[in-house]
Amino acid sequence: MKASQIDLFFWYNKYIGGDILVAGVLVEISHQSVDRIFDYLIPDSLLDDVLIGGRVVVPFGKMTLEGFVLEIKDHKDTDVELKEIIEVVDRDVVLTEELLSLGKEIQKTTLATLISCYQVMLPKALKAKNGKRVSIRYDTYYHLNPSFDSSIKLTSTQSKIIDFVREKGEVLRKELIDISASAVSTLVKKKLLMEEKREHYRFQSMIYREEKKKLTDDQRRAVEEVLSHPNQTFLLYGVTGSGKTEVYMEIIEHYLNLGKTSIVLVPEISLTPQMVKRFQSRFGEKIAALHSGLSDGEKYDEWRRIYRGEVSIVIGARSAIFAPLPNIGVIIVDEEHSDSYKQSDPNPRYQAKDLAIWRSHYHQCSVVFGSATPSLESMARAQKGVYYFVSLPNRVNGKELPPVKIIDMNQVMRQNRGYFSQELLFGIETRMKKSEQVILLLNRRGYSSFVTCKNCGFTFKCPNCDITLTYHKSSNTLRCHYCGYADKVHDICPECKEKSLSNLGIGTQKIEEEISENFPTCRILRMDYDTTSRKGMHEKMITAFQNHEYDILLGTQMVAKGLDFSCVTLVGVINADTSLNIPDFRSSENTFSLLSQVAGRSGRSNRDGEVIIQTFNPEHYAIHYASKHDYFSFYQEEMKIRRQLKYPPYYYLCNVRISGKDANYLFDEALKIKKSLERNLEGVILLGPSVATIFKVNNIYRYHILLKYKDSKNLYPIFMKIINHYRQNTKIKIDIDFNPSQIM
Ligand code: ADP
Ligand code: ZN
Repeated sequence: MKASQIDLFFWYNKYIGGDILVAGVLVEISHQSVDRIFDYLIPDSLLDDVLIGGRVVVPFGKMTLEGFVLEIKDHKDTDVELKEIIEVVDRDVVLTEELLSLGKEIQKTTLATLISCYQVMLPKALKAKNGKRVSIRYDTYYHLNPSFDSSIKLTSTQSKIIDFVREKGEVLRKELIDISASAVSTLVKKKLLMEEKREHYRFQSMIYREEKKKLTDDQRRAVEEVLSHPNQTFLLYGVTGSGKTEVYMEIIEHYLNLGKTSIVLVPEISLTPQMVKRFQSRFGEKIAALHSGLSDGEKYDEWRRIYRGEVSIVIGARSAIFAPLPNIGVIIVDEEHSDSYKQSDPNPRYQAKDLAIWRSHYHQCSVVFGSATPSLESMARAQKGVYYFVSLPNRVNGKELPPVKIIDMNQVMRQNRGYFSQELLFGIETRMKKSEQVILLLNRRGYSSFVTCKNCGFTFKCPNCDITLTYHKSSNTLRCHYCGYADKVHDICPECKEKSLSNLGIGTQKIEEEISENFPTCRILRMDYDTTSRKGMHEKMITAFQNHEYDILLGTQMVAKGLDFSCVTLVGVINADTSLNIPDFRSSENTFSLLSQVAGRSGRSNRDGEVIIQTFNPEHYAIHYASKHDYFSFYQEEMKIRRQLKYPPYYYLCNVRISGKDANYLFDEALKIKKSLERNLEGVILLGPSVATIFKVNNIYRYHILLKYKDSKNLYPIFMKIINHYRQNTKIKIDIDFNPSQIM
C-alpha cells in the first residue's frame, strides 16, 4: 500500500458519517459459543485510533480480552447499556478489508471459529496469547539545533561532537556516545543538539547481488506463456534442474516493473535457504522473508514493512499467504505438491493453495503452482483445463537426468547384515577417490509401527482400502485406520513363509557408523531433525557441505528438497520403502515424489551424476517410474488406482475426528454421528468409525469417520449441526478436516 492508500484506509475507517459510537468486536476466545460480534462504545479519546480490522482491549464479563474490530456503526442495536473499549492494541497491525473477507471464507470452508481464522493471519508475535508484546525498536539520531546559541561555552569534547555533527548533518547515537555519552546529554539539555527517534526495522539486508541469467528458450517460453495469459492459475511442471526459480523471478520482475507485488510460497523456509538467498540477492530490500527463524521482533517488523507498502515481494512458508500486500500481480507456490501447504492442526485447517486462488480472484492476478512432481490433484486439474499447463521438460544445462540404478535389497539382506549394497559402497568409494560429493537419503517418513518381513519386504495391507495396517501394541493387532479392519499379528510371513516379521526402523546414527566402518577417513555430515533443531544449524550445514568441508551428506527427507550442489555426483537412497508403508492413500505419490526430488540433486553441473536406490520392492510402480524419471506414466498408473478406490482427485475426502477420555462413550457417539451423516447425505461414502493411527494420546482416545464425496455443499450445514450439538459437551471433541494431508 502506498502512503496515500494508507491515508485513505484510515480515512475510510474514521469517516462513517456522523457520530461514531459503536464498534462490533470479535473477542479472542476460540469457542463457538462466543464466536460472534459484541458491541462496545468507542470513547472519544479513541475515536481516531479504533480501526476496522484493528485490535482493541475490551471488558468481557469479568475478564479483559483482546479482540478484532469488525464493524463501526453510528448507532446501537439494543437497549442494553454498552461497555467502553479500554484501549487500542496496536495501530500498526490492522487486518485489511481483503483479509477480513478472506477470514470469512476460511471460516466457511474449514468450519473453524471466525476468531481463529483471523488469529492465524497474524504472526505469532502479534497474538494476544503471547503475553508480552513485541516493541518497536528505535534508533536515535542527532542534528544541530538551527537556532544554535553560539555564546554558550563548550568543553573541548563538546566542541568535537558539535563539529562532527555539523560535518555529517545527522549522526546516529551509537557514533556519538563513542566520543562521550555524558557530553551528548549535556548538549541536548543545553538545546544545542536535537534528538530524534526513528523506527528501526530488524532485518538483514543482503550485500551480495545475483546477476540475472540469460533465460534458456524453454524458460523464456514459460515466462511468456504466463505473462500473456492474465488472471490464470498455472501449473508449471519443470523437471529438477530446469530452472523454475529463474522463471519465477522473471515473472515477478515483470510485475514489479508494473508496480505490482508478489507472494512466493515455499514448503518450509528453513529448508530452502538457498532459494530465499537467490530471491534476496536479486530483489534486495524490496523483499520480506517470513520464516520461523525470525525472532518475534523481526516478524513484527517484517509484517509492518509489508503493511506499510515498503515491500513488494514476500517469500515465506504457508502462512505467508496472509501477507497484507496490496495490488498483487502474481502468487507463486513452489513445490506445490508439498503437504506443508495444508495446515493440519489446529483449526483453521486451511489449504494455502486454495487461499492463493481466492486472493488471485480478489486481485485479478495469476497464480503459478510449480513442481517437478505435481500433486495428482493439480495435474488432474491441468488436464481438465482448469489450470493452464506450462512445462520445462529439460534441464538448464541441457544434460539428461541422471541414470538411476535399482538395487533389490531382498538379495542383499540374504548375503550380509548391513544396510549397504555392494553397488552403493562401490559408488561411494569411486566418488571419494575423485573428491566428489555424495548425498545419502535415509527415508524416515512415516512410522515404524507397521510390520514388515525382513526377508521379502512383505507388509500387511487392508483388503478394503489398500492401506498399510498399523501395529497396535496394546491389543497386539494390525488395524486399518480408514475402515477399522483388524487382523491378528502373525509370526510367519504369508508371502515367503519365513519367520522374520518385524518392525522396521533405522536411525541416521546407525547408518553413519556403518559408513565410518567402511570409509574411516570419510567426512560425514549428518542432517536430521536432531542435528538441525538449533536455530541456523540447517543453513550452516548446507554452507559447510557446499564448501566441500564434508564428503557425504547423510540425512532424512530434508536433503531431498531444493538443494543445488555442483559437486554432488552420486545420490544414494538407503531404503526407498519406508514411505511406501505409511498408512496413507498418498504413500505411493509421496514416495515417487521423494525419490524424484532426491534423484534430481545429482549431476546438476557439468559432471555426470548417478543415483542408486535400494529397495525391497524393486517392482513397485512408484519406484520403477521414479527410476525412469517418468512422471506421466506414474501419474496415469496412480490415477487408475485412485479411481478404483474412490480417492482424490476423483473424490474429495473429509476426516471427522472424535476425541475424548472415555473410549466406549466415544465409540457410541461416533456411531450416532455416522448414522446422522448417513441419514442426511446422499452420494457420500462413509467409512468407520475407526481408531486413529495414534489411538491414544495423553489419555485422549481418537476415532475417526472418513467421508468420500463429490460435492461439499450439503456437508457444511450437517457438520455445523453436529458441532453445535456437541458444543457444550466436554466429554467429546469434534474436529473436521476437509481434504486432509494425512489421516492420522
Ligand atoms: P529447479 O528449481 O527447476 O530444480 P533451479 O531454478 O534451482 O532449478 O536451477 C538449477 C540451476 O540452474 C541453478 O544453479 C540455477 O542458478 C541455474 N540456472 C537456472 N536458469 C539458468 C539459465 N538461464 N542460465 C544459466 N543457469 C541457470
Ligand atoms: Zn481398510
